[in-house]
Amino acid sequence: MPFSRRTGRAATAAPRSGPVLWLEEAMASDDGPACPPLAGTVRADVCIVGGGYTGLWTALELRADAPDLRVVVVEGQACGFGASGRNGGWATSWYDELDRLVERFGDEQGRWLADQSSAAVARIGETAEEHGFDCRFRPQGSLWTSNAPSQDAVVAGPLAACRRLGRGEVATAVDGAEVERLTGSAIARGGLLLHDSAAVQPALLARGLRAAALRAGVTIHEGSPMLRLERGPVAAVVTASGRVEADQVVLATNVWAARVRELRRAVFVVGTQMVATEPIPERVAPWPWRDGMLFGDARMFVHYAQVTPEGRIVFGRGGGAISAANRVIPKHFTDQATADVVAADFRRWFPQLADVPLTHAWGGPVDRAPGHLPFVGALGDHENIHYGIGYSGNGVGPSALIGRILARRALRRDDPYTRCALVGGPPGLLPPDPLRFAGALAVRDAVQRAESREERGTRADLLGRTAKRLAGFSLPARGRRRPPA
Ligand SMILES: Cc1cc2nc3c(=O)[nH]c(=O)nc-3n(C[C@H](O)[C@H](O)[C@H](O)COP(=O)(O)OP(=O)(O)OC[C@H]3O[C@@H](n4cnc5c(N)ncnc54)[C@H](O)[C@@H]3O)c2cc1C
Repeated sequence: MPFSRRTGRAATAAPRSGPVLWLEEAMASDDGPACPPLAGTVRADVCIVGGGYTGLWTALELRADAPDLRVVVVEGQACGFGASGRNGGWATSWYDELDRLVERFGDEQGRWLADQSSAAVARIGETAEEHGFDCRFRPQGSLWTSNAPSQDAVVAGPLAACRRLGRGEVATAVDGAEVERLTGSAIARGGLLLHDSAAVQPALLARGLRAAALRAGVTIHEGSPMLRLERGPVAAVVTASGRVEADQVVLATNVWAARVRELRRAVFVVGTQMVATEPIPERVAPWPWRDGMLFGDARMFVHYAQVTPEGRIVFGRGGGAISAANRVIPKHFTDQATADVVAADFRRWFPQLADVPLTHAWGGPVDRAPGHLPFVGALGDHENIHYGIGYSGNGVGPSALIGRILARRALRRDDPYTRCALVGGPPGLLPPDPLRFAGALAVRDAVQRAESREERGTRADLLGRTAKRLAGFSLPARGRRRPPA
């Protein structure tokens, strides 16, 4: 068996889990100014905690709407260190779940949310162009496939909803042969091609938004973890070496928000892992998805892939590490056992690439929420402290929408964004720990066993079917939220 010189592991296995391909690339070319840690007391109109997509989009939206506003971002490490710099680069809308959106919120609001999420994807490309950064935005669509009869409805439902609600042009059904022609993989029975999605290099997007925010007049302090939040009409974000006193605070800390008392049961933190091949441009050349079409499946813990402009296949899978008390732990980022499973899945999807070495394996935590959609709210009774979390593994596109909602809330606007169905706090609560932890482990494992059985043509057992229903976190149909005006 050939061995990788870089890792010493079998060339076909996952390499050592850790270094993030995207961050390596982005930081090698990053020539943005330093953003020194916060020092002393600073006064701001809005203080944003967290320098990922959510925080940076919020900052940009605020300055675009109110150019004189004093906006300060306080980032614990460096902008893009979190999920924003390490994700699969799938910038997708919610047309892939339009059927579930209308079931939950009604036709009008469901379609409005899907349209807004699609506009958010387009905004990535527009913002990159306007601010002159390259995040390798490639709007070539996304291919969501069904790899078992139980996944067919996940593909058929959104297609029917798109057609019924006048969005038929966004979605095209494809059969298994077409999936194979597009991607080279014979894994699928069929699928749904959504034309409004785009591939991005996620860390270049995060660093590009950082540069754009700085240019727009936002102050950013990196290396400044918030240690304490003082609540009040003027709130204070306190770090080791300073404090920002602000009329409005936006918590954009993603999975780390699960440590905040009010949000502890609103999301559960779960790892997802990815692997990347070495560049193989000549091997992917025959397959049209090489130009930036996203390729994944309709599993609950999805597989997701893209081909980079250099011709690497980057391939990931959800359903990794779960932690006690919803802590963010090192295993969310570096999880060799799960990386090895992801590598094996990659080999199963692309047996013809069995000889191709994998050069990178990495991961990160995801904030799964009941209902699988992000939500925005105020912290307890504090109407001047806002949060936006719960992306459930789909935040690259939607964070531009959530950033707009958060900015409008901080500006006290009353409009369709601040009144939309995502506003009003968590749509459901998870059981308290240790029940949540034990339950999440059991459900995750049962769902994965069930989905593997189904893909092998065997019916999932009762436990698996029950676990899938539980993991679906289905919420009561419409009426929970006010529709926008
Ligand atoms: C491996 C992986 C693959 C994914 N793939 C996809 C995909 O292909 N498509 C998709 O749509 N979504 C994907 N996601 C999800 C998506 O990346 C996230 O939903 C999105 O990046 C969330 O952005 P954010 O700004 O809210 O969070 P983050 O990017 O995590 O930013 C939060 C920031 O807050 C900072 N912070 C935390 N605590 C503090 C504190 N106390 N003080 C100051 N700062 C603090 C962190 O350092 C971090 O920079 C993936 C996620 C992962 C982990």
